[in-house]
Amino acid sequence: MSDCIFCRVVTGTIPSKIVYQDDHAVAFDDVNPQAPVHVLVVPRRHVGSVGDFEATDAALLGHLALTCVKVANQKGIAQSGYRIVANTGANAGQSVAHVHFHVLGGRSLAWPPG
Ligand code: AMP
Repeated sequence: MSDCIFCRVVTGTIPSKIVYQDDHAVAFDDVNPQAPVHVLVVPRRHVGSVGDFEATDAALLGHLALTCVKVANQKGIAQSGYRIVANTGANAGQSVAHVHFHVLGGRSLAWPPG
């Protein structure tokens, strides 16, 4: 989608700090980091939110989860711990309608979230 900001990141139309990419996923630093490590993992294919995944996307969902783990290892936060978050819809504060998994770490994270 040409008007989707994360589709533009995926195609390289707008600049980003990509930390990992493959045929199905792209991971890049969040432009407004909320923790020392804050990476977004997105599918190359446009999917609006977690709620838009279908049964046929099971492999893609697994791949995205494993990509989050890969990023955590790459960023050196696997041992200290990290959080994977997918804000979904208005009440969760989803602000970009291209599904994305936040990988947050590098500091102690409070629970419950605000
Ligand atoms: P959410 O509020 O869960 O939809 O998360 C959207 C995230 O995307 C926020 O943490 C923003 O800081 C981040 N963001 C928005 N535009 C960009 C961009 N061009 N590059 C990297 N991160 C972005």
